[in-house]
Amino acid sequence: MERQADYHVIQLCSHRSADRIGSIHNRKSQRKQAESGPLIESSPTRLSMLLNRRYFLLSIVFLAACASVASPPADTTASNTLTFVHLNDTYRVDAVEEGHRGGFGRIATIVRQLQNEGHDVRILHGGDFLYPSLESQIWHGEQMVEAMNFLDALAPMYVVPGNHEFDSRTSEHLIERVRESKFDWLGDNLRFATGEADVDRSMQTAFTFTADGRKVGIFALTVHPDDGGNVRDYTPFDAVGYVERAESVIRQLEVEGVDLIIGLTHLHLKDDKQIALLKARHPKFMFIVGGHEHEVQFEPGDDGNAVIMKGASNARTVWQIDVNFSGAEVQVSAKQIAVDESIALDVEYQKIADKWRGKLLALIPFLPSKIGEAALPLDGREVAIRNGESNWGNFVADQMRTAFRNPPADLAFVNSGTLRIDDFIAEDITFEDVGRTFGFSSFLRYMTINGGDFRTLLEAGYRGIGPSKGYFPQISGFRICVDRSRPDGQRIVQMLVPVDGGGWQEIDQQRDYSVVAPDYIYRGGDGYDFGKARDVSRPGSELKYLVLDGVVRAQAAGEKVGVAVDSDVARFAILPQEAARCFE
Ligand SMILES: [Zn+2]
Repeated sequence: MERQADYHVIQLCSHRSADRIGSIHNRKSQRKQAESGPLIESSPTRLSMLLNRRYFLLSIVFLAACASVASPPADTTASNTLTFVHLNDTYRVDAVEEGHRGGFGRIATIVRQLQNEGHDVRILHGGDFLYPSLESQIWHGEQMVEAMNFLDALAPMYVVPGNHEFDSRTSEHLIERVRESKFDWLGDNLRFATGEADVDRSMQTAFTFTADGRKVGIFALTVHPDDGGNVRDYTPFDAVGYVERAESVIRQLEVEGVDLIIGLTHLHLKDDKQIALLKARHPKFMFIVGGHEHEVQFEPGDDGNAVIMKGASNARTVWQIDVNFSGAEVQVSAKQIAVDESIALDVEYQKIADKWRGKLLALIPFLPSKIGEAALPLDGREVAIRNGESNWGNFVADQMRTAFRNPPADLAFVNSGTLRIDDFIAEDITFEDVGRTFGFSSFLRYMTINGGDFRTLLEAGYRGIGPSKGYFPQISGFRICVDRSRPDGQRIVQMLVPVDGGGWQEIDQQRDYSVVAPDYIYRGGDGYDFGKARDVSRPGSELKYLVLDGVVRAQAAGEKVGVAVDSDVARFAILPQEAARCFE
């Protein structure tokens, strides 16, 4: 999925100015360069050559803000370039995928190399870092703040809080984290109300900074509790909508005379798209960089749309965005960087990662111990489990059906956002693999629901646009066929349950089924509505221990864990074009 065609966005000025002809000419020459190769690679350096050779170079975005400022002639040397490195949804101080992808150690290397080339680097973080993770169950994000402070010391870091910054029910941990943090907290639709004046003051609104004599403004928005964010009295939100709030901040920044406006958001992509439309009225608003979605997102811009960019979780893919103020118009170009083994881990940073690893092992020395064996690589990567059927998701969901009583429940599902390991589990299965799979406790409930109501409530798992949804379900006891082109709430084409004696049939709309689901989604989390459920148990067995037990029991029986996803009995399928159903 990572090698897509290059794309180019050429944005034309919407107003006429004396600079226009020259700037169009300028853009034409850029377009030419874009066709032959990326402009930002025009003076090859070690990093950029490395980028060309070893990483995919996905995107080149040329934008021109129609700022009619009198400017010196264009100069494309890096020393004039303000460069943002954007990352989002980072839960680990170390790299993921067995150390092969992501990691702040590699981000530090990227930042240092850009600085060596003369770039004025700023780091943008699109939120979600304090929770959830194995470490955060112990240290409540202290490890992440120390890691982010390291990056902030290299290059100033501007951070919008995500919903997971507020996972803790009480404010004490957030107070500590904010006091420890050296980076800037930006928030225009929420505030800290912890009662600690120093902490509450640290949330900045309508943020601006100056680079090379030019002023840049950032508006920052976090997903509202009504859209799945946490409801906490220590972080009250605006009643005002995202677009309205964004525009009021943009206006404020325009009055302050900024040269460039950026949105830093932790929102659903559909909301970013609405905000992007403000570009039509506010030409200095060039792009949104965001988080919350865990896979790379790119929405091209034009006169009426700001560009939208999001990276992949755990800094597996980040964006490099270069802003050049030296021409008649502000020029922005951007590309993705796949953060992989071809980028060295920064030696200084690794001391922090190693320290926290040592602390973790001191507390839980058996963490690397083997508890079982994987029959095949078990896929817990978010790109897999948030988009489709995965063998690890199947194993987890299968453990749920036997959680309460015999016979097993008919149906079970878990929101993939509960599964946080973002990694393959291969060969030995360790305590750590199970511990990392569950970044927080997930207690289960047993209940009765009729077939028609179950089908209706599961529609929530397939709603919305774009890939990688934490509410996407990993399922057991049924098969599902989905048509994503249909409106939300009408996307399930088939929902099949097993027939006694073999085969599958459409779920009986009238019949009652026993269902196991996490307490979190039973209570309305992730947008599922269990209003029609009956005979609901209290929250019982914890999913983490069921999975641990499942692995240990398999090991004791001399069996390996995991079964390949079987396409003949796929649990999840997307309706092929022009087809009426997925399964016969
Ligand atoms: Zn989020």
